[in-house]
Amino acid sequence: MSRIHLLPEDVASQVAAGEVIERPASVVKELVENSIDAGSKKIEVMIRRGGVSSILVVDDGIGMDRDDALLCLERHATSKIRSGNDLASISTLGFRGEALPSIASISRFRLATRERDALAGTEVVVNGGKIETVRDGGEAPGTQIEVRSLFYNLPARRKFLRSENTESSHVEQQLHLQAIGHPHIGFVYVNDERAVYQLPAATNLIDRIRDLSGADLAEQLLEIPEGSGDGISVRGFIGKPGVSRSTRTQQIVFVNGRAVENTTIHYALREGYHTALMKGQYPVTFLFIEMDPAFVDVNVHPAKREVRFRDPAAVREVVVENIRKTIESGRENWSKTFSNAPASLAVAPPPLPVAETLPLIEPREQVVLRRDWSSLPLQGSTSAVVEQQALRVPLAPSLVSPAVPARPEKETQNFRILGVLGKLYVLMENETGLVLVDQHAAHERILFEELRRRMEDQGVPCQRLLMPLTIQMNPRDQDWILQNIPTLNKMGIAIEQFGAGTFKIDALPQFVKTGDPQQLVRDIIDELRQTSAQTSKLRLGEDVIATTVCRHAVKANDYLREPELVRLVQDLLACEMPYCCPHGRPTMIQMSYLELEKKFGRKA
Ligand code: ADP
Ligand code: MG
Repeated sequence: MSRIHLLPEDVASQVAAGEVIERPASVVKELVENSIDAGSKKIEVMIRRGGVSSILVVDDGIGMDRDDALLCLERHATSKIRSGNDLASISTLGFRGEALPSIASISRFRLATRERDALAGTEVVVNGGKIETVRDGGEAPGTQIEVRSLFYNLPARRKFLRSENTESSHVEQQLHLQAIGHPHIGFVYVNDERAVYQLPAATNLIDRIRDLSGADLAEQLLEIPEGSGDGISVRGFIGKPGVSRSTRTQQIVFVNGRAVENTTIHYALREGYHTALMKGQYPVTFLFIEMDPAFVDVNVHPAKREVRFRDPAAVREVVVENIRKTIESGRENWSKTFSNAPASLAVAPPPLPVAETLPLIEPREQVVLRRDWSSLPLQGSTSAVVEQQALRVPLAPSLVSPAVPARPEKETQNFRILGVLGKLYVLMENETGLVLVDQHAAHERILFEELRRRMEDQGVPCQRLLMPLTIQMNPRDQDWILQNIPTLNKMGIAIEQFGAGTFKIDALPQFVKTGDPQQLVRDIIDELRQTSAQTSKLRLGEDVIATTVCRHAVKANDYLREPELVRLVQDLLACEMPYCCPHGRPTMIQMSYLELEKKFGRKA
């Protein structure tokens, strides 16, 4: 007896629907994408009870005639592609011809549509995939689709839905993406009769971001500078260094207008930010990547959430470069705000009150990087204090030599130090208001860059261990080490195989002082393995070492006297990446006069 049979049409549709429509937010996504593809200028979305009870999407797009209004409900009916070849050049959001029949098969569905110049429109009512009514309708040009009782005939799926609040927040996140992706379209979103947002059509992305997420977020962004991409272009905005989130919800990436999740891009973002991003945090991005559609396969995921790149390495490289470039450009603007300080602050400031109140720095292990104190043009700075500081530097002799050229005059003295709060936060005044510097984080950043520079110039000096260490590695790590021994050697780690699964370490980078060298080596290997092939492993290795060194070298709560504080701030300002420590924590916080005035109720 044969066991195979064809599924009835309605069951087949429900199965197919299960792939595309996971929850109310998927319905909203598909309907809004259709409205966008239809050239709408304004899209209104209204949901009730998390979208389970009803979803209504109204657009002012091109609409459909009666034939199309019926045909669009058939599976694999689409106006967006004609042949298999077209799959390689998709420029619309939809192309599968599956959304409407899927949604109509698992809900009570109503479609009302009218072409712009048509005398009458068409209304179609479908229940659980069966067409119930087709008649003329008198709606405004455009298309309205109403979806009620989602999953009413699919109890299994209905059980998987979360609370109404959770479902509506998914809807909101979905609309958020669409609104960012299409600033020139006006969006209205109403949840249970409450207008969540009414976004006017915007002329540019930053206006839309401001309308949607507020001026505060917009302030924290850097625009990606225009560049001539080689087939792949990247534009948009990214968070300034130190700006991050604990989830990925603000890490928004579009590829050819489609919001996507893609691990290649996730890694590239992380790599581009590098030390400007805290571990475990995600960057804030509004990234628009554009490329020839032939180089990206969008037909990977039923809900079209994922894409596959023909050349992921190229995409990764372009993204990493653009992020780096943007962060660097941000650095320039930032230092301008510091050097635009008023002239009164640019001359020697009055003797600082902190000098008297601050106790002497304890002569403990303290790394002082730049010792050309005599060039410090500050009143009250004496080399006596300086001498005291220059003691106890646990670095190689080469590190201590005064190799750093004097900074240009304009970089100095654009701030005035007011004091130190809680032994840790340096309070400063600059042109814009109050600046708080985390002494510890600042120190780490300065030391980190200094070490990295030296490693770049001179390689990483290593120090022989009195007793060689052995370290046990699992097979996966073993292979990696064997392939990367030259890199590790260049980084000052002398490592060789010592037997099955065991390695011997004879030398470690000179600056590293760690109680647990085995763990250090494991950390370095872990970190290096995560990098792409393009990023120089050496550079990253240096970063890893420098970060580790910093963690050990700088201690919180060291008392610094006024000249040291001034120098600390100057050194920080001269860093490549002054805003955050090598672990991505901010080094300084600016509180503008405007913010202060607001807080004191002087300004609304
Ligand atoms: P796809 O978007 O993949 O083509 P859909 O099932 O989502 O498949 O839609 C089927 C077709 O119905 C679309 O190709 C389009 O021609 C038409 N359509 C759907 N929604 C709209 C709309 N809001 N305005 C105009 N036409 C629409
Ligand atoms: Mg569609």
